Amino acid sequence: MAEPSQAPSPPIPRRVNAAVIGAGPAGLVAARELRREGHSVTVFEKGSQIGGTWVYTPEFESDDPLGIDPTRPVVHSSMYESLRTNLPREVMGFMDYPFVAGGGGGGGVDADGRRFPGHREVLRYLEEFAREFGIGEGIVRLEREVVNVAPVEDGSGRSWKVTSVNSNNKEAVEEMEEEVFDAVVVCNGHHSQPRIADFPGVKSWPGKQIHSHNYRTPQPFKDQVVVLIGHAPSGADLSINIAGVAKQVHVASTTVVDPNNNNINYPSQSHPTFPNIWIHPMVEKACGDGSVVFRDGVTVFPDIIIHCTGYTFHFPFIRTAGIVTVEDSSVRPLYKHVFPPAWAPGISFVGLPHRIKYVFFFFCVCKIKTLLFPLFELQSKWISGVLSGRISLPSEEEMMRDANDFYSAIQAAGVPTRHTHNMLATAALEGDDYSDWVAAQCQCRGVESWRRGMFLASRSNGQARPETFRDEWEDGELVIEAHRYFASLKP
Ligand code: FAD
Repeated sequence: MAEPSQAPSPPIPRRVNAAVIGAGPAGLVAARELRREGHSVTVFEKGSQIGGTWVYTPEFESDDPLGIDPTRPVVHSSMYESLRTNLPREVMGFMDYPFVAGGGGGGGVDADGRRFPGHREVLRYLEEFAREFGIGEGIVRLEREVVNVAPVEDGSGRSWKVTSVNSNNKEAVEEMEEEVFDAVVVCNGHHSQPRIADFPGVKSWPGKQIHSHNYRTPQPFKDQVVVLIGHAPSGADLSINIAGVAKQVHVASTTVVDPNNNNINYPSQSHPTFPNIWIHPMVEKACGDGSVVFRDGVTVFPDIIIHCTGYTFHFPFIRTAGIVTVEDSSVRPLYKHVFPPAWAPGISFVGLPHRIKYVFFFFCVCKIKTLLFPLFELQSKWISGVLSGRISLPSEEEMMRDANDFYSAIQAAGVPTRHTHNMLATAALEGDDYSDWVAAQCQCRGVESWRRGMFLASRSNGQARPETFRDEWEDGELVIEAHRYFASLKP
């Protein structure tokens, strides 16, 4: 007689002991999601406080201001004193912990209730998030830098040896610790290793050069002639900041176009609002006599060149060959930008995808980024669910095939390698919206429609009012909708 058919029993949840590297926004939300799923978590943070990039420090890397040597002593944060967010707070925060003024980051005598607040307000929000979800002492180990991550013996990826040192005394062998974890979630941030502009003469130019990673305040540039390379958010912010004290600011942009004739090499022009800022096409060459020549032939003699040219991915603690390779800002092979197929789910990466779009506007290029905090949240839910067995992954072969198909497709489409994780450059090849895809894996709510609408509205506002979009807007109805939504989240 045939056995009565039975419904398959649900998988027994696996509780793992996970290490999270980094206590910035990605590491904090990863820790929360792992704990929610029942895993035990240790967060390693090399800094003396949580918050990652949002911990402003006046310190900078004075010995290597271009950040060329990857083994230099690194100051993690690239925040400058005057920075205000480039997204409205309602959009920017985690999806289930609203970043609203007067709560969830607001409140207190020194609160910054602006819609596009300064960096200190974001840090306060992250500290409150950590307090709310118990990501503190006992979970986060401050001043512990992870220096090596390697699979244990059998190489199955089922357990990982994590080596950490005291960040203030890295050479102290007696303070080095090796611990074994079932899983490692990498959340080390991607805004500390500068990318430098490359043009003839840049290396031998006799003047001073720095990367925006090491910019803090405009005062050092008083009465100087400054060439600033790059016109994305940092470049645009810095040019206006520095123009307040400098003699002249010359911005070289790869992407400034004249909206009328679409001429990518639009000739040098003075800025419509700031008389001591000039916008130029890209630099043609830097010369031994101290001059800098732009592609339209305009020549200036600057005191300093500031590279506002972005960052590259850097994972100095992953030394074991074969886990992933990092080349030209492309981390490979990864299944859906998170799991190396051969080691999944034992090691995972949060926060690699970004979405960069260059929006051309006369004299201004806005570099639109994706909604990072919600993305970190969704990726963390996915990783936590996979680790417990609640969510399954395809086989290693299928994941590898998927990753390789994607790499072949971007190559065939002529997408540069450095845009592997740029959701906008690869959108047509990836099909679904990436956040929606991850949310579907987790069977959870994706990015809310009001949030998407507000993101688009703030993007258009940024184009229409490149200098004032942080204080003038017209999406008040969406703000009301957002607050209605936040109120509905309260228990
Ligand atoms: P991070 O915030 O960089 O945190 C990584 C953490 O890992 C750090 O605390 C670091 O100390 C720690 N760490 C690194 N290596 C190790 C190690 N080996 N061992 C132990 N700990 C380690 N995003 C927005 O959404 N809105 C904005 O307005 C915005 N403005 C920005 C402005 C600037 C100038 C910059 C640089 C970035 C901005 N961003 C903005 C992006 C910002 O990076 C993200 O908001 C966010 O901070 C990224 O979070 P993360 O946790 O991935 O990385």
